[in-house]
Amino acid sequence: MVNGIKLCTDMLNSAGEDASKEIVFLLGALSTIDPDGPHEALNMVKMNNIRCSVVSLSAEVKIWKDLTQVSDGNYFVPLDVHSISEKLEILARPPKDTAGKQASLMRMGFPINEGKNKYVCPQCRTRVTALPTTCPVCRLPLVSAPHLARSYHHLFPPPNTIPHIPDDIPEDERDQTERELFNLIQSCIGCGETANSIEEGKQFVYCELCRSSLCQLCDILIDDNIHSCPGCS
Ligand SMILES: [Zn+2]
Ligand SMILES: [Zn+2]
Ligand SMILES: [Zn+2]
Repeated sequence: MVNGIKLCTDMLNSAGEDASKEIVFLLGALSTIDPDGPHEALNMVKMNNIRCSVVSLSAEVKIWKDLTQVSDGNYFVPLDVHSISEKLEILARPPKDTAGKQASLMRMGFPINEGKNKYVCPQCRTRVTALPTTCPVCRLPLVSAPHLARSYHHLFPPPNTIPHIPDDIPEDERDQTERELFNLIQSCIGCGETANSIEEGKQFVYCELCRSSLCQLCDILIDDNIHSCPGCS
């Protein structure tokens, strides 16, 4: 436990001051073997502001539970195979709490990839082996464009979508209200598809921000892949 946390702390600290730092432990053992007392590790994560989360495949262990508590992480003990992936999925998403962190502009370098695990700092030509990191010579934060793109949509999720025709219209006014709402549906801003009947119109949603209509397929595509509304951008 202590050695693992030391190693991760060194690695995470090289990612620079602005990065949020997190370690996820997947454990099967009920004991740890440590060179020093494990309580030192608790102080280390607290001092370095690293969030630690644990998925334990056997049972809850007090020292690991303490670790997640001091670092504001999560402790999960999944009950079956299905819930293991469910818990890992929860932990795979970056935490949303950017509160208290002031947004500011920062310089970043996009290193040149020279093949397997070889990246060259665009400012001082120093070679580094992994991204993201801070250049050991000129201290420029180094990232790759895919990393940046992947983290972006978690910080700025797409706007909510609302069904054009809700299902909870009272029985006596349903026919007329549905027809009125149906007439407001435009063609899908994503693919141009139109709703030809009220039944089809029930699959259409609109963006809360730009009010553009979206068909069901484009709505799913935005949630799962694109993470931005074509009407807003
Ligand atoms: Zn450099
Ligand atoms: Zn569409
Ligand atoms: Zn929009």
